[in-house]
Amino acid sequence: MIEGGCRCGAVRYMLAVDSLPAVYACHCHICQRASGSAFSLQALVREDQLAVTGPVITREFTTEDRVSTVRYCSECLARLYNTNSARPGIAVIRGGTIDRSEKLVCKAHIFTAYRQRWVSLPTDIPQWPEAAPLAEFVTALNA
Ligand SMILES: [Zn+2]
Ligand SMILES: [Zn+2]
Repeated sequence: MIEGGCRCGAVRYMLAVDSLPAVYACHCHICQRASGSAFSLQALVREDQLAVTGPVITREFTTEDRVSTVRYCSECLARLYNTNSARPGIAVIRGGTIDRSEKLVCKAHIFTAYRQRWVSLPTDIPQWPEAAPLAEFVTALNA
């Protein structure tokens, strides 16, 4: 069982998996603006494996024809995870909210065309300048 939570501790979640999920870095401008940082660190998990407790609020963001529903702690407003109408059943967890995040392994970088130029990318893991083709992306995360 993997656990995580928000900055203030009011929201906690449990993930019914045996080991820390692989994470990837998204360097797109939306992720930079939403996080205020250089990139967003994210893990794809099955939504039915995620159990959340505490005061969660949601906001919906529409990009083209897809709706991203983002979950935040209502107290500290930490962004915890989102789902997307384009990928039903998948939750995208913010990597930094996972307990023991220092043990996470980053397996891929996407939207690297928009990365802040001081960010050096490792040459030994897959990266894509824009979105990754889904099959290749899943292969990279499971490598
Ligand atoms: Zn909180
Ligand atoms: Zn992004």
